[in-house]
Amino acid sequence: MVKYLDLKRINDSFGCELTDALAEAARSGWYLFGNELHEFERRFARFCGVEHCAGTGNGLDALTLIFKAWISLGRIREGDEVIVPANTYIASILAVLRAGLKPVFCEPEWDTCNIDPARVEEKVTERTCAIMTVHLYGRACRMDEIRDVAEKSGLLIVEDCAQAHGAFCKDKRVGACGDAGAFSFYPGKNLGALGDAGAVTSDDKELVERVRMLANYGSSAKYVHPYVGINSRMDEIQAAVLNVKLGRLDKDNGLRRRVACEYMKGITNPLVTLPYKEPDERAHVYHIFPVFSPLRDRLQEHLASCGVQSLIHYPIPPHRQGALHEYASLCLPVTERIHREELSLPMSPLLTGEEITSIIDAVNTFNG
Ligand SMILES: *Cc1c(COP(=O)(O)O)cnc(C)c1O
Repeated sequence: MVKYLDLKRINDSFGCELTDALAEAARSGWYLFGNELHEFERRFARFCGVEHCAGTGNGLDALTLIFKAWISLGRIREGDEVIVPANTYIASILAVLRAGLKPVFCEPEWDTCNIDPARVEEKVTERTCAIMTVHLYGRACRMDEIRDVAEKSGLLIVEDCAQAHGAFCKDKRVGACGDAGAFSFYPGKNLGALGDAGAVTSDDKELVERVRMLANYGSSAKYVHPYVGINSRMDEIQAAVLNVKLGRLDKDNGLRRRVACEYMKGITNPLVTLPYKEPDERAHVYHIFPVFSPLRDRLQEHLASCGVQSLIHYPIPPHRQGALHEYASLCLPVTERIHREELSLPMSPLLTGEEITSIIDAVNTFNG
């Protein structure tokens, strides 16, 4: 059986480097806001090419805290509209709602599955305060075009980078292309902790400082609380793990691209559509390798019968979820087609040649 994602294989491959870092963090006697977190924040800011980074408890909090910080700084107001891609993981939209803002669903492009810059412009109203770009599946959005729209209307840009650690848009990494970036280090992400963790990146010192305060009970100094905050921290153990794994992120993303390249060359089944090939290979870090087929469910069964595990990202679009029932009547045909036809093949930097061949053979022998 080829697993969709073998996290044990990935984390075992770091050997004692990882277990030593864990043991040291466990024995240090200092578990929050210590050297490991400070080192990770410094190194991750540098990796992304921004001035500042603040660790958070998870990716959803990172996104939410960016909006809450902008509200707290008076740059946007509760009730303002945020344009979001309609085909994202529900967390992107929940962050908007949690901050007291209004999500405005925007259709993606069929080719890239990313938010369509031309359609973003059509969604702008006088209540719009921000655009959220989600670099879905690991592919960077076309940020130049998004920035043109944002500048024309004086909008802020938040990047949801939870699936795209290390991807480039032109010469900038994601997380450095908007006004602020939010990352998740959920275990299965390209840079994954051994539990929950997240981060905010930005060049805006005032924003990141406010995020830090809001993430620490709204505290500006010990026992002084000018703001209504939450508790959302990256602990020392997760930071120690991420400090080890960050060193291999670019290399691992390169290995994911090699797997993707093998899939692109090897899969020739006319019933299966491959993802759009980026002219600049650095724009995609293949968190997910999606293929598309009107016969998606039968394809998934066929792969399973060949011993290949696959997943669907995602089976139900956000506007069709019970939690978002007030958006159920929206007409979003591209979004719905993606959710109907998408299937994710196994993707990991450590897939073996033999496994890749068996996956390609399984896809190519599907006959409907
Ligand atoms: C994983 C993910 C998140 C949320 O991250 P958590 O750390 O699980 O809170 C947000 N947006 C997208 C697109 C994701 O894939």
